[in-house]
Order: sequence, then C-alpha cells, then structure tokens
Amino acid sequence: MENLDMELGLTHGARGPSVKKLQDYLSQYGYLKKETEPSSLEVFGAEDFPATEVIKAEGEFDEITAEALRRFQAFNHLSETGMLDESTIAQIRQPRCGCPDLAEFATSGRKWATNNLKYAFQNFTSDLSSREIILAIEQAFALWAAETPLNFRRVSMSSSPEIIIRFVTGDHGDGSPFDGPGGVLAHAFFPPTPPNPPAPIQGDTHFDDAETWTVMVPPPGGTFDLVTVAAHEFGHALGLGHSSVTDSLMAPFYGGPHRFLHSDDINGIRSLYDGYQLAHAMWVHGTDIKVEIENNVESLQRYGFFTRIVGKPNTTNWYHFAIPTSVIVDSNRLAVGRAMLRFNTGGSQAVVRDVHIYDGSTRIAAHQSVNLSGNQPFAKFGVPHKPDVVWGIGISIGVRTGTGTPAQRRIDFISAGVDFLP
Ligand code: ZN
Ligand code: ZN
Repeated sequence: MENLDMELGLTHGARGPSVKKLQDYLSQYGYLKKETEPSSLEVFGAEDFPATEVIKAEGEFDEITAEALRRFQAFNHLSETGMLDESTIAQIRQPRCGCPDLAEFATSGRKWATNNLKYAFQNFTSDLSSREIILAIEQAFALWAAETPLNFRRVSMSSSPEIIIRFVTGDHGDGSPFDGPGGVLAHAFFPPTPPNPPAPIQGDTHFDDAETWTVMVPPPGGTFDLVTVAAHEFGHALGLGHSSVTDSLMAPFYGGPHRFLHSDDINGIRSLYDGYQLAHAMWVHGTDIKVEIENNVESLQRYGFFTRIVGKPNTTNWYHFAIPTSVIVDSNRLAVGRAMLRFNTGGSQAVVRDVHIYDGSTRIAAHQSVNLSGNQPFAKFGVPHKPDVVWGIGISIGVRTGTGTPAQRRIDFISAGVDFLP
C-alpha cells in the first residue's frame, strides 16, 4: 500500500505534503485531474467525467480539492464534510480496485461488439495452483455469463484473446503501477466504444501479485478472494464503472468474498448487453431430488412440489437433480445457458455451499463457496463458455449443515431448471 498517512482534520486552507497525498489519491480515482499527467480515466481508456477539475496548486487544500473530497465522500456514503475526518481516512485506507470511480460511466456505451469473448493467462500467481486459478477465473466469468448473451472461452495467448489476465507487481508498463501489499488489489481496462475496433490493452485485467490471493472462504487473514476480485475486474473489462451501491459487486472497495451479482450489477450489465435468446427451458420439481449420502440425512419428507431435508448436525452432503434435456431440437444442438434453483433454508445453519453443473460426466461449471441460505426464490448459476449440450444436464448441490434445531437445519428444495440456447 502506498503511504496513505494523511493528517487527521485537514481542511480548506491547509498546505503541505499531506494535502498533496490526498490530492494524489483523489486524482488516482478520477475525482481530480493533474495538469501534467493523463487522468486516471484516460489511462484505463475512458473519457473524463465533465465535472472533474484540474488541481490548481499541488499541496494546497483549495476549494477544488474540498469539492473533490466531498464527491469522494458522497460516492462512499460518508458525511460530505469536505475535510479529512476520521471516517474518510478509514475509507481511504481500505483495500480497493485501482480503477477510477465514476457512477455515470456505466452508461457511456463501452462494450464488446461480439458475444464470444476469449481470454488468456499471460502468467499465474504462485499463491495458488494453476487449476485453482483457472477454476476461480471461470467462476468469476460465469457470474456475468448468467445474465448476458456473452460467453467466455479460455484460449492461448496466440489466439487473439480480447481479455489478457496478468499477475504483476509495481510498475508493469501501463501507466498505473501497483503499490505492494494492501491498497490497490487489481485493475482492468475498459472495452472500446463500438464501432471502434479494440486497442490491444482494452479488456486486459491485472492483479497485484504483491497481494496474497486465495480461493478459500472465509479467506485466511491478510489474503484476498480471487473469485470476487476477478469478477469485479471483469465487470470493468465488459464496460461497467464503479457503483456507489454499497452491496454491489462493482463497489470500488473490497469487503470480503462477494461471489454473486447484486441487482445493481445485473441492471448495469443488462444496459450494455441484451438478455440472451432462449431456445428452451426445462424445470423439475424439488420432489425429484436424489440424496448422495443417506447417512447424513436426519429426515427427508416430500410434499406436493418440494422436498424438505434436515441434515444431521455438522455434516455436508450432496444433492442431485437430473434435468430432462432436449439435446437436439429441430436438427439443432442446443447450448447450456445457465442453471437455476429455488430453495429455502432454515437460516445460516443450512447453507448451499457449492453448485456444480454437469453435462453427462463433464463438469461444465463449478460455483464454489457461494454460501447461500434463507429464501432463494431464483438463484442463477452461469456456465462461462456455454457449450453445446451433449449428454444431458445435471445439477449437483453441496450443502453444509451446522448445529441448531431441526427447523434451523432444514432445506426445502422447490425447483431446479436449466436455460438452453439456440
Ligand atoms: Zn473496480
Ligand atoms: Zn496494469
């Protein structure tokens, strides 16, 4: 993390190195511009927000600096004091994405002209095995694939990928150096504005390899969840800016694992890419469920359309749905869009931890540690590359049962379904 030690209480009229640090921070995230350097929005391939003003005097807390600070405070739901108070300093020290903040940016129409996107790894981090990294990246892309017509296919570096993934440290040649452990975690470059062809760096996604990356939930102290940070960065690579909605994936600050899209993220990505065309959808009732480990079930009861299962305390189990699959319709082989589940648990003592999607014996998507509980009327699980279906789709659901009363340990499986694409 860059040295973010700033004096508490800095306000209009103050001068000195601490003011300059604040101005550097505000200009790094697009609230201010420096006369001598390209703005941070230009670095990431976007236009400046019209209201962004140029710093008149570096190291002087003038009205322009105060106004920029108020905009930072407003974006982060802090009181708009225009001074460096305690909550503002605390916010500034939080780990975050290196891209600039700009809510209005989401509507600027930067997007890919194709729905078939390719990505490649230039290198991996040594924090994780290459298999763990690939699965984490697939899971991150799957979040966006579930809500858009986009599909994401891993290719080699020589196959002209739109999105190149790198793990790098410090200055890595793109005008936005990383800052060591903490602080900035990653950044990504926005796509072109059609019909402009993409420039080489557009869509590229860089992770600060000075961080310790993990795929474990909860992450061990001092580590960051690669699935969450990658999913956030891919939002930028697809054309989304930062959101000031605190619980959204596209909020700029990292707040721990967030392996799902918020309705704000879904509205954002749908404003750029239309929904996908459905050829077919198939659903089954919850009464169809198959139990993997009968021994870990305390009780199982089928009602009209759902199955209520109470797991034994401190166990895990897998439950399976086979979805009837019209592999070929009107001489066309269908592709798999996404899987969907309706379920309801007694609370946090019965948690859907993992959801895997199979075509025959091939696992085509793995959503790990999604940790969903309570009422889930329409949970969606994307398939990153949306492959043609070959054998028939199965959904496997890993459930963790904790302690508590049977009512707290129950899960009601209501329905399971799959969307198929032409
Ligand atoms: Zn970001
Ligand atoms: Zn970079």
